[in-house]
Amino acid sequence: MLYDAHNHLQFEELAPHLDQIAADLAKIGLGGAVVNGTHPDDDWDDVAALAERFNWVIPSYGVHPWDVAGRPDDWQLKFVDRLESDSRAAVGEIGLDRWILEPGRAHDPILGGVPPAPIEEQMEVCAWQLRWAAEHDRAATLHCVRAWGPLQEVLRTTPLPKRGFLLHAFGGSPEQVAEFSRLGAYFSFNTSLIDPRKIRQRNAFKAVPSDRLLVETDAPAFPPPKPAFFLTEASPDSWCNHPANLQLAYADLAILRDEDPVELVRAVARNFQRLFA
Ligand SMILES: [Zn+2]
Repeated sequence: MLYDAHNHLQFEELAPHLDQIAADLAKIGLGGAVVNGTHPDDDWDDVAALAERFNWVIPSYGVHPWDVAGRPDDWQLKFVDRLESDSRAAVGEIGLDRWILEPGRAHDPILGGVPPAPIEEQMEVCAWQLRWAAEHDRAATLHCVRAWGPLQEVLRTTPLPKRGFLLHAFGGSPEQVAEFSRLGAYFSFNTSLIDPRKIRQRNAFKAVPSDRLLVETDAPAFPPPKPAFFLTEASPDSWCNHPANLQLAYADLAILRDEDPVELVRAVARNFQRLFA
C-alpha cells in the first residue's frame, strides 16, 4: 500500500474530480492520505467532509503560514474544538514562510488579498499549534520555506510531539537532515523533486534514515515533471498535481536511494503508521 503523507484534496482544483481521483488512487493501491486544512473558516469543514466520505483520509487541521494574517479572532477555540472532536485528526498544515515576505509579494493572489504576517507572528501561531500537538500527542505537519533559522528556534523552544513531526516537501540540506532527525523529524519526498536539476534537495533524501522517510504529493500543488495521471478536463500542461502521481515519487525515490522498491513501500508504510495512526 502507498501513503500520501501530505495533500490538499479539499482544494477547489480537485473537488470537481473526486470520483475519478478516488478510482485512480484505488488503482495505485493507496492505503492512506493526510489531507491538510489551512484556515478554520475556509477549508476545515471540507477536510472533515472528506474524512467522512473516504476511510483512507486522515484529516489534519492547522493555520497555514500564508493564512496567519487572515486568521479569525477565535481561531484557537476553533482549533481545539475541531481536534478534540476527532481523535484521528492531526495538526497541520502549520509552519513558517519568508518567501511570502519578499518585496512585491504582499498582493500576490495566493495570499487572498491579505498582506502576509511578519515572521514573529508566524512563529507565535506555529508554536501555539505545535505545543497543543505535543500536549495531546498528535502528529504535526510543518511547512518551511526560507525560514530554517526561525524554524530551528521554534523547535528548540517549544515542546514537540513524542510521536514526531513531519517536515513536508523537505527542501533543506543533507546536513540539516541529521539535526532535525535528532529532534524527531520525518521528511517527505515530494513529486516535484523528481527533477534531476534539484540536486541539493535530492541529495538530502539520500541522507534521510529509512525509519524517517515519507512520500507526498501536496496535490494540487507541485506536479512532477512528467505526470502519469491527469484530471479529465484539465489540460496536460495545466499546473495541477493529480494525487495518484504519488506512485511516481515512490519509484523515483527507490532509484535515488538505490533501494528495492518493494522494501521502500514497506518501510514508508511503517513510518506512516507510526507517525499518523
Ligand atoms: Zn501543503
